[in-house]
Amino acid sequence: MPVNRAGTALLLGTAIALALAALNPVQAQAAPQAVPHVAAAQTGPSAYIAQPESMFRAGVARVLQTTANLNLRAAPSTSGKKLKVVPKGTRLTVTATRSGWSQVRHAGQTGWVSSTYLRSIPKAVKQGDLGKTTARLTLRQKASTASKALATVPKGGIYAVKKVSGGHAQITSRGKSGWIQGKHLKIVAKKPGREIYIDQKYTSNRAGLTDRYWTKVSGGDLYESVNGKKRIGDIPRNSVVYRDMKMEKTAGSVKGWIFVRTQGMSGWMKTSQLARTSTASTKPKKYSARQVLAQKNGRVPEKMLVAIPWDKEKTLIAAPALKDLNRLNAAFKKKFGRNLDVDLAYRTRATQDAYWVELGPYVAARPGTSNHGWGTAIDVPETYDYSFRGKYYKWLKANSKKYNWVHRKILEEGSPYAEAWHFDYVGR
Ligand SMILES: [Zn+2]
Repeated sequence: MPVNRAGTALLLGTAIALALAALNPVQAQAAPQAVPHVAAAQTGPSAYIAQPESMFRAGVARVLQTTANLNLRAAPSTSGKKLKVVPKGTRLTVTATRSGWSQVRHAGQTGWVSSTYLRSIPKAVKQGDLGKTTARLTLRQKASTASKALATVPKGGIYAVKKVSGGHAQITSRGKSGWIQGKHLKIVAKKPGREIYIDQKYTSNRAGLTDRYWTKVSGGDLYESVNGKKRIGDIPRNSVVYRDMKMEKTAGSVKGWIFVRTQGMSGWMKTSQLARTSTASTKPKKYSARQVLAQKNGRVPEKMLVAIPWDKEKTLIAAPALKDLNRLNAAFKKKFGRNLDVDLAYRTRATQDAYWVELGPYVAARPGTSNHGWGTAIDVPETYDYSFRGKYYKWLKANSKKYNWVHRKILEEGSPYAEAWHFDYVGR
């Protein structure tokens, strides 16, 4: 219980005999004479802001909510006779105001309460709104707090509300669609080029998107918003980028910028950094694996990277790994009649750092430790055929090592590090 600076007189004088909470700065300012308006203790510190008088237009009734247990008084003064206590959280219709007091009607009685402890009722989110999470939340399968938990949603993220149902809002967070409690979403204005979070999982990069670009500059930038900070700042030339028109419209289009998914993240990119074709070499180069591995992880020079020729995204990998990957693909194609699918290969240091920050240690590899940072690893998709039970995985597990590409034992099914999709290059 915090120190009570004002309560003694009240405690003596009230039949309820409830302790007063310490005055927080807002309350202290509103009640400089330390005459309490509050009838009972509040639970924990509150962050609400007192309603200014200007909020009440003369003659206009307004519904507000009490932020504490309040005394309803017969007159707009602390010396007014106490009629009753209005519980915290009660919705009251304000019919008049007078110097810090609001006239309300509660349970058949009309009286006055301190305006300091009234706040506006937050507007409920609706379909199409952008909502900012005011707490860390649980993402659930269905629109109910009893439904299965799928993931946690970070505080402060901005999400597009896809649907609302029974006080819940449907959103997509980190590649998962689910429901969160709508009351913890604060509506934010749609501002062109603003930050908006969507699938942050790289394998959902494609996610039905087909409007493809490639970066035409060295060290391209992905921004969280057009006025915001860089999410990734070292994307190599010829990295694939997908435009997400739907999200761009939701967030608000800005000339000279497009909303994209790239490097497993979403954000804004300048159109001046993008081209419609890849100019990356698809031919093996003279560099050895030893030379590439001597580079700093995530900082491999672009001259040591090549594009996978059969891949429609022209994914970049370390030059010395291409020849064996071509051989592996030829064998895969002979067996299944299709090319090997590659979701990701080279990943820069800034990309790894961004992953580490946004996804955390259980999902992201510690920056600077993954073979993706040298372009000597590939990830295949997380689809059924590439999963532990799938035919592609089984074939790759048995055959890829002939071509110097291996699926490590530590990644096998049952291991805490299980990943069916990750293959490392072990050639020279
Ligand atoms: Zn991987």
